[in-house]
Amino acid sequence: MKKIYLHKVEKQIARHNTIRDINKQIVLNYVRARAPISRAEIARETSLQRSTVSAIIDDLQLEGLIEEIGTGDSTGGRKPTLLRLKTGTPVAIGVDVTPRETTVVLSDLAGNLLETEEFPTSSDINYMNKQILAKVSNFVDLYPEANLEVGISVPGIADQTSGEILYVPYFQWSNWDIGRQITEQTGMEVVIENDANAVALAELWFGNEEIRRTRNFVMVFVGEGIGTGIVIDGQVYRGENGAAGEFGHMFVSENAPVTCSCGRRDCWEAHASEKALLQRYASSNGSAGQGSIDIDHLIGLAQNGEARAINKLKENAKYLGIGISNLLIGFSPQAVVISGSITKAWDMIKDEIEEAGRRSIRQEVKTTKIVPSALGDRPSILGSISLVLARKFASAN
Ligand SMILES: [Zn+2]
Repeated sequence: MKKIYLHKVEKQIARHNTIRDINKQIVLNYVRARAPISRAEIARETSLQRSTVSAIIDDLQLEGLIEEIGTGDSTGGRKPTLLRLKTGTPVAIGVDVTPRETTVVLSDLAGNLLETEEFPTSSDINYMNKQILAKVSNFVDLYPEANLEVGISVPGIADQTSGEILYVPYFQWSNWDIGRQITEQTGMEVVIENDANAVALAELWFGNEEIRRTRNFVMVFVGEGIGTGIVIDGQVYRGENGAAGEFGHMFVSENAPVTCSCGRRDCWEAHASEKALLQRYASSNGSAGQGSIDIDHLIGLAQNGEARAINKLKENAKYLGIGISNLLIGFSPQAVVISGSITKAWDMIKDEIEEAGRRSIRQEVKTTKIVPSALGDRPSILGSISLVLARKFASAN
């Protein structure tokens, strides 16, 4: 049950879907989840009339969202035509800005990447602006017939109504109106979102099956920093201005191995991010800086049995677990999903993380699972396209 806020009523009535639109979303989601599936099966499973399903399928085919892929086995009579989401046709451009590299991709409705362009992220905002506009325009030129929308994932805060990136702490960028510029130049709609919120959305729609069915979970994105995305009742909780989920800056302990992006030395991300892990490893070697070793290299050393690398991974994981235990106390989620390169070392770190978590899971609600993401080591790429794709599958209500 949702509270009705009277000052929002007008907007809600205007947006209210017709029953036909709701049924269309349901049918599209059936095709997505159960493909290959026939019209008759959809009618049977949804209890919608066969003629209603056929009319909706016609609409969805016209909109280029689904396609026929031959016939299935007959259960007597004509062989049924099978349907699936239309693949190979571009529908979304994703722009994933991370502190190290920026990736611009083109994807179909099923999340398959059709084109990928990548360049090192620069702190020069004018250069970034030019690069992103050029790469997005290239994709538009490549597929002039496509009906594209753009999703942008950034390690910062964005205003979704103005298409403006409000603040990216890592580069000290503020008030960057890249979304508005793309819309002005190409006419495409643009959705900009904080990277952790975008990854949480990707988990909800493209994660492993268990997580896709979970209505309440917290996603912890471990990279240069730590971001969290909170999913409540099947929706990403954005908070005012999309600024919710900044648990990377919660107080965990003093004297962290690195200074946090906010300048403090007691935040969770200063204790448990990749940056913290690399510094722990460098310090244990008597080296002051982080050196040239990166996260994949360190995980490789640990997998080859180097004790120092294993110890530092475990030490870092203990702090990751402390933060997670605080989230468990506050949210009592069904699951916590951990994303980022660190999950490649899951076997070596899961005991430390679960141990800290166990202390916080109340005995009467023992069901919270802590699991690694199934989205690979650049989940924010999928995050950026999910900003477009999820809108096609989600109900507007
Ligand atoms: Zn901080």
